[in-house]
Amino acid sequence: MKRMDSKVSADLIALMEKAAEFHGHLGPFLVIGVRIGKTVKQILNNEEYSKLQATVKIPLLTPFSCVIDGIQAITHCTVGNQKLRIENSQKEITVYFKLQNSDRTLNVSVNQKTIEDLMNKISEGAPNEELAWKIANMPENQLFTIENQ
Ligand SMILES: [Zn+2]
Repeated sequence: MKRMDSKVSADLIALMEKAAEFHGHLGPFLVIGVRIGKTVKQILNNEEYSKLQATVKIPLLTPFSCVIDGIQAITHCTVGNQKLRIENSQKEITVYFKLQNSDRTLNVSVNQKTIEDLMNKISEGAPNEELAWKIANMPENQLFTIENQ
């Protein structure tokens, strides 16, 4: 994978490589999923993380649905182990995390402006990898909103 931004942490680069290998290509929506998974792992302790389950509300079309593989590649929430459920949405991309046998929830919503900006750049023909690095480098508070309860 060609590294296109020196400010991205080695940690994140390793996760992006893992996800791109799983998914087949590197793109901005895949990296959004990676960053959601990474953030949640940072917030939760090991015991909490072991009970993590996710419902992903997302338009079931590429490139949006690439987010799902970013999450599956770097967390243990997958369709196969039944810890990841998918719901179709019109525009919204939100991941509703919960812990098994607990009231604790953690919701991560991707900012609509970020999604719109990305779609505009994609329609202008911006290369996928370039946009992926742009997302990798974006401050977390610009990328998504987190509700932690
Ligand atoms: Zn993709």
